Amino acid sequence: MWFFSEEHRMLQESVRQFAAQELTPRIEQLDHEEGFNRDAFFKMGELGLLGITVAEEDGGSGLDAVSATLVMEEMGAADASTTLSYLAHSILCVNQIGKNGTPEQKEKYLPKLISGEWIGGMGMSEPDAGSDALAMKTKATRQGDHYVLNGSKTWITNGPIGDVFYCYARTGEERTQISTFMVERGAVGFSTGKKFSKMGMRASPTGELVFSNCQLHERERVGQEGKSIKMMMQNLDLERITISGISLGIARSSIEVATRYAKERMAFGKPIGAFQQIQERLTEASAWYEACRALTYQAAKLWDLGLMKDKEASMMAAKAKLQSAQMATLVALDAIQILGGYGYTREFPVERFMRDAKLIEIGAGTNEILRIIIARQMLGSEVVG
Ligand SMILES: Cc1cc2nc3c(=O)[nH]c(=O)nc-3n(C[C@H](O)[C@H](O)[C@H](O)COP(=O)(O)OP(=O)(O)OC[C@H]3O[C@@H](n4cnc5c(N)ncnc54)[C@H](O)[C@@H]3O)c2cc1C
Repeated sequence: MWFFSEEHRMLQESVRQFAAQELTPRIEQLDHEEGFNRDAFFKMGELGLLGITVAEEDGGSGLDAVSATLVMEEMGAADASTTLSYLAHSILCVNQIGKNGTPEQKEKYLPKLISGEWIGGMGMSEPDAGSDALAMKTKATRQGDHYVLNGSKTWITNGPIGDVFYCYARTGEERTQISTFMVERGAVGFSTGKKFSKMGMRASPTGELVFSNCQLHERERVGQEGKSIKMMMQNLDLERITISGISLGIARSSIEVATRYAKERMAFGKPIGAFQQIQERLTEASAWYEACRALTYQAAKLWDLGLMKDKEASMMAAKAKLQSAQMATLVALDAIQILGGYGYTREFPVERFMRDAKLIEIGAGTNEILRIIIARQMLGSEVVG
């Protein structure tokens, strides 16, 4: 992008090298076995990627949303699963502690999370509250200087392997009375439930968090009681911008693999790239990828400049993710078609690209919910509801 700084370009180059050395060689097997690239997190720590948006005075790298999106794109082009786990750690957990935590919480959690010694995650979704997140039932009841949590979270990225989770729970009867708590593995009454077996993003462990009379000291509450909605929504916007980087990475790799194949694969005495129907798929994919890339980095840049008000930021983030996520799935499907029979096998990575891409049409707000956010801003909530 024309506005990338020298620092952005250097970051892009170093993450590209890291991905080629640490992610690409392992992803096929990890995807097959539903494993997890734990080693990569220690290396990301050494590279300063884990606290990418956290202020330098808090031990982070103090970089912007454009940088975080660039990292997602470069890592996502190699291994979208590990990148999804990285996003849950760095954007949904570490960024939030850096932004909203008390000095004591930052001191307690950030060094371990930024070095890679600990893995973090975020718990918002529940079995009966996904798109309608404010319908969450997990309840935190105050008892003196403690809270007692009961309920469960589901679909939590890094749930099965994480050490600490940034969790939301209800602290009142109103839909908006939501509070945030830091929950460590090993806390009394806290356990992680089943691990899900998934179609894609298989090397990013997803599971349940279970609270059964889980006792947490009020020191573990982040922010004021019952006032977490704003920070939750703002983080969703940042998540939507940065996760779009993963879609861009998947699409870029799909286009690269398909283009190479179209030059080499012969049919009817010609490379298949000589056929106009193959050219149409490749050219449309390339143009759509560029359009989504421009939209996503524009959203990231506007976020960094603070030029968008709350609802405007939500709409831009929704537009970037809505388009990038759909684009990546369709571009990966096109790559499969261009590779013919090979595209349908595990001999080439494009079938993995398609399985991984589909998740981004669901997680961090489904396509349908994003369209509602955009429609509300365009038509007004009195029309849209
Ligand atoms: C691999 C993976 C990782 C995830 N990681 C995390 C995580 O780390 N932390 C976390 O908190 N959550 C996480 N999630 C949860 C994710 O955010 C939810 O799955 C998502 O918000 C959708 O919720 P749901 O699955 O309950 O679907 P539902 O809300 O039940 O939706 C089902 C369908 O109905 C549609 N729908 C719902 N409401 C409307 C409406 N008003 N209008 C039109 N259509 C509608 C949806 O778009 C969807 O197509 C993850 C999910 C997955 C699959």
